Amino acid sequence: MLRVILLGSPGVGKGTQAKMLSQHYLVPQISTGDMLREARKNKTDLGLQAEGYMVKGQLVPDAVVVGIVENRVGQRDCLGGFVLDGFPRTVAQATSLRTMLARRGEKIDVVVNLEVPDAVVIRRLSGRRVCKSCGANYHIEFSPPLHDERCDACGDEIMQRKDDGEEIVRERLRVYREQTHPLVKYYEQEGLLKRLDGSLETAVVWKGLQGILDKVV
Ligand code: AMP
Repeated sequence: MLRVILLGSPGVGKGTQAKMLSQHYLVPQISTGDMLREARKNKTDLGLQAEGYMVKGQLVPDAVVVGIVENRVGQRDCLGGFVLDGFPRTVAQATSLRTMLARRGEKIDVVVNLEVPDAVVIRRLSGRRVCKSCGANYHIEFSPPLHDERCDACGDEIMQRKDDGEEIVRERLRVYREQTHPLVKYYEQEGLLKRLDGSLETAVVWKGLQGILDKVV
């Protein structure tokens, strides 16, 4: 049983670590950002509702994301746990999460905060590229695809997320500091917080993360 939250500003590597965690500990990755992007791609009501906020780098309203997470954690594959990546992002979301889990006799086991200086985050986000089809992640400087602008996994085109443009990145970091950073204190007070230096190489961060999680499972 492993119910984990990965915290940290945009670009700290939450998604990358959450993917490895999900494969290693066999728990689903719940990424609200991925779910919202999928909804936008499919032009569902949820997608249309979220779009205006996402293109500006602002948060989608709490009630909307809480609804999709509540739905997702209630599915069968979450019975053995899950890793939350990009949720909660406000104290209100965190208290809703606590309530929805408590109703089912569940709770979060551990919260890991990935810490990376802003300058590194900006460099990471501005170089980040994703595959149009399969969502694989690349970085033009640190982990480029083998063939120009094509995904190693599926061969489709890679592109920059619209919200990874410099202006919007700055707004996302501002929103993070204002609305999400207070969660570090919140989970510290709950006695659930562990800190990890996220500026190190992916493999080193992963080792540190495993060190924390192996003590929990
Ligand atoms: P991410 O991929 O996690 O950086 O999320 C991309 C965008 O989706 C964010 O900038 C928000 O607009 C929206 N989003 C994702 N997760 C949340 C959340 N928990 N609360 C509010 N908005 C969110």
